Amino acid sequence: MSLQDHIIARIRAEGPMRLDDYMHSCLLHPRWGYYATRDPLGAEGDFTTAPEISQMFGELIGLALAQKWLDDGAPAPFTLAELGPGRGTLMADILRASARVPGFAEAAEVVLVEASDTLRAVQARTLAAHAVTPVTTTDALPDQALYLVANEFFDALPIRQFVRDGTGWRERQVGLQEDALVLGLGPAQPQPALKDRLEDTRDGDLVEVCEALSSVLAPVTARIARHGGAALIVDYGDWRTLGDTWQAVHKHAATDPLKAPGTADLTAHVDFEAIARAAAPCAHTRVTPQGVFLERLGITQRAQQLARGLTGPALNSHVAAHRRLTHPQEMGNLFKVIALHRQGEAPPPGLET
Ligand code: SAH
Repeated sequence: MSLQDHIIARIRAEGPMRLDDYMHSCLLHPRWGYYATRDPLGAEGDFTTAPEISQMFGELIGLALAQKWLDDGAPAPFTLAELGPGRGTLMADILRASARVPGFAEAAEVVLVEASDTLRAVQARTLAAHAVTPVTTTDALPDQALYLVANEFFDALPIRQFVRDGTGWRERQVGLQEDALVLGLGPAQPQPALKDRLEDTRDGDLVEVCEALSSVLAPVTARIARHGGAALIVDYGDWRTLGDTWQAVHKHAATDPLKAPGTADLTAHVDFEAIARAAAPCAHTRVTPQGVFLERLGITQRAQQLARGLTGPALNSHVAAHRRLTHPQEMGNLFKVIALHRQGEAPPPGLET
């Protein structure tokens, strides 16, 4: 049996499946899910992320979080957490860079929020030199000051899609035609949660909704509001999504999200307005392009410093990595950064309210 057989059997028994349900099964089904069964990152895998491109990304994020911790009066103990840590590379770079900040490492309890057993094992290897606490959901974060990072995590949360029809909405669903999975539309229904979107959409427009976002963020914002800290969120997307951004990637190329479920990475653009709305009771910063954020934190100076020790192909790939992270035509503009922090406190460096 494959995940495709399993999904087809479910649709036969229960009818068309919601997209978030399909996406959740494809990514996290314990036996066949994409993240559950593999390490998808890097040149050999399906996609590459900023921390895998260059150590500079995690170093600058680590120093930004440590600076915010100092600005907050160095609360101790505190939680240093990451959502969806992949291979653990970002956290390793954060810990290396922040080790020079007096008191930071001693006061930090490192917590990794990860749903995949396979990736949890990779993270444990990468971070073998550190004490880390693995958890599967943000509810399990300790009740203390929280400094958190999430890179390319929210794009993996399951979405629903709705197509406008008059004042109602038709939900996009996965159904069956003969033995093949196909996308279809449910009946038009009112959607109270989409009331605002009646103002900026027309008949036939498609909007996306990520319901998991608020349940993931609620425990995070509760801890920051109560004890202090910040959450730094980096992902691709923009303020308010409009249109179909659902995509599947396999071996660094786009593929059909309905083909061979469980074998491709499924993502959608992150709606930063939805993150800002879920920020309460915390404040949120402006959404800032990744390139601008990294430049403000001094990536060019760091790149020049690292370049002094490099020659030949290593130097070329270092220069290319700097460009890739920051250039507007590469990741610099597509990726955005937002931070959540306590009302009335300064945001982390590199961002403004
Ligand atoms: N942040 C890493 C990896 C991004 S890939 C990097 O930048 O390289 C997405 C990560 O989120 C993977 O570790 C995946 O297993 C994890 N993940 C996806 N959905 C999740 C969920 N609902 N709960 C917890 N972890 C999840």
